[in-house]
Amino acid sequence: MSRHATPPMSTRLLRSYVGGEWRTAADEGTPLHDAVTGEEVARVSSTGIDMGGALEYGRRVGGPALRELTFHQRAALLKALASHLREHRDELYALSARTGATRGDSMFDVDGGIGVLFSYSSKGRRELPNDTVYLDGAVEPLGKAGTFVGRHIATPLRGVAVQINAFNFPVWGPLEKFAPAFLAGVPSLVKPASQTAYLTEKLVELMLASELLPEGSLQLVCGSAGDLLDHVTEQDLVSFTGSAATARRLRAHPAVVRNAVRFNAEADSLNCSILGPDATPGTAEFDLYVKQLVTEMTVKAGQKCTAIRRAFVPAELLDDVQEAVCERLARISVGDPSNPDVRMGALASLEQREEVRRSLKALSDAGRIVFGDPDHVEVVGADAERGAFLSPVLLRADDPQRAEPHEVEAFGPVSTLLPYTSAEQVVELAARGQGSLVGSVVTGDAEFARDVVLGAAPWHGRMLVLDADDAKESTGHGSPLPMLVHGGPGRAGGGEELGGIRAVLHHMQRTAVQASPKVLTAVGNSWVPGAPRSEGVHPFRKSLAELRIGDSVVAGPRIVTDSDVAHFAEFTGDTFYAHTDEAAAAANPLFGGIVAHGYLVVSFAAGLFVSPEPGPVLANYGLENLRFLTPVKPGDELTVTLTCKQITPRENADYGEVRWDADVTNAAGDSVAKYDVLTLVAKEAAR
Ligand code: NDP
Repeated sequence: MSRHATPPMSTRLLRSYVGGEWRTAADEGTPLHDAVTGEEVARVSSTGIDMGGALEYGRRVGGPALRELTFHQRAALLKALASHLREHRDELYALSARTGATRGDSMFDVDGGIGVLFSYSSKGRRELPNDTVYLDGAVEPLGKAGTFVGRHIATPLRGVAVQINAFNFPVWGPLEKFAPAFLAGVPSLVKPASQTAYLTEKLVELMLASELLPEGSLQLVCGSAGDLLDHVTEQDLVSFTGSAATARRLRAHPAVVRNAVRFNAEADSLNCSILGPDATPGTAEFDLYVKQLVTEMTVKAGQKCTAIRRAFVPAELLDDVQEAVCERLARISVGDPSNPDVRMGALASLEQREEVRRSLKALSDAGRIVFGDPDHVEVVGADAERGAFLSPVLLRADDPQRAEPHEVEAFGPVSTLLPYTSAEQVVELAARGQGSLVGSVVTGDAEFARDVVLGAAPWHGRMLVLDADDAKESTGHGSPLPMLVHGGPGRAGGGEELGGIRAVLHHMQRTAVQASPKVLTAVGNSWVPGAPRSEGVHPFRKSLAELRIGDSVVAGPRIVTDSDVAHFAEFTGDTFYAHTDEAAAAANPLFGGIVAHGYLVVSFAAGLFVSPEPGPVLANYGLENLRFLTPVKPGDELTVTLTCKQITPRENADYGEVRWDADVTNAAGDSVAKYDVLTLVAKEAAR
């Protein structure tokens, strides 16, 4: 489709969705321009929007609706939402092109955002209970008799997650913040950057039209944040992405400070990529480095918080790298992003281009431009002046100690080559960025990679080591991944976005609960040793509908004999001397004689507690936390106590998981083995 086939949008005021309705501002708003043609796309204003009322609505309506759902129910909604957005992604692509994005850039933003929803959905189902409370860590014994114990729980904050986003990822940015908040049970209020808010407005419109989201769980404010932050309380959170300067200002907002509001910032950073000394021309790593640098400079026209700004190269390879990078950059065609021949689109706005040109002036004091002209670019299918086009610009600073490359960020297709002479020096130079989102090392030398990763890690949220082995599968320097930390120390904001379940827990309060085992069992919905157990019908005869936490069976005793141990050794082939050689076993400092195999103990325990006939228990799918605590000798008597610990029905199946506490004891009552048995159990008994 050519750019001109895009249906003309009538200029209109973007809407906000607050208090359960779409609203428009009371004034005419500020115009927003198409990054490619300069045409007005829409107007934006938040004048007259009741920010305090929006937060109150989220707390009063959205929070309770979300908290009624379990983690798994919320996860299922995220998955359905992701599928819904995938069906409508062409609508998002069409608007994305107006931000200057190529098709590839749009996929990064749109499909990347949808991918985050899918990823959180599956993590939520796999790593969180089908419950409303999260148990964090093990039960801690607090008294000798076992009547006083403690554990940490996490519950959703009762406020709203205020999400202030940057202009460069109008879809992925909101979704990567919304997903963990939603999974945690906290409503979101999305505030997109004004420049590209028309795309986020469309995204929110699609999300609401899905009718999947509980009322109040998602609100949108287009335009300035106004007095929004004046209304945040200790139960709200603020997650910010944008410039370091705005992050500093918002972090110090009086209401944020007064109420100790959780404030997470992800700000621009001077990310580096380091070429190893082994990666000389002709090696796979040399080519990978050059290719990655050009990709990072040109994807999204370099408007990525993770893009490579400082390219560190061994001094003796600087000329070779410069030549290879320039050669590749020369092949990048700039222009109308809807033209299939175009590799790089426009910056998000003319203001943004001016900002980059200003930064380039400062960078030029420390180095010289070796590729590109900041004031001139040939463009394909567009007007270079009306659209916010800029050539990729590569600088070379022969003195790596100059301050500018480590301090000035040009948020566009700009990078600086810098020489280094040793691993120690490059680690020091990397640290001069004062904290980055991501750093990459491209080398085939694992020792060099280790030195650089361990040296530079304290200044980085994420590090990628690229070599010939992982290149094919590597997701690249610039791609944050929902299962890994995205954020960085210092200048990068000091926060963490994404990061899997860590990001969910960020929206929850961790509380240490001290109580008796009975009460702690009730609070966490998970049986704690020392809490009452109930014996009666064998618990393996009960469906999920009938089973209760604490249901248990005590089975045994069974005496372990010499011939059991000898038979097990021969049968399995595990003839380790402690089970087979009396003299050698006697000399073992831990056993002092023949002992039974641990796996024999576990097998006997299963033989004791099993209820063999077909029934609601469908399968045993594993053991966790298995520990052998006391050696078992021939003649010892084993008894096993199996207690239903946690019940996790599956949302999309007619069975669920049951975790059982297994405690195998000897005649003296000492535990010889403890572990969790994991089974799949039918929700209803077979008729
Ligand atoms: P800003 O820091 O100016 O804005 C980021 C977000 O904060 C926007 O939603 C903006 O809203 C909002 N904001 C600004 N001031 C306030 C305030 N006083 N109260 C509440 N919200 C506020 O960044 P830009 O998006 O304008 O980009 C500027 C620079 O930031 C770039 O040139 C680049 O260096 C860096 N950047 C870093 C990114 C990253 O991911 N780390 C991403 C994008 C930019 P509004 O747009 O309505 O002003």
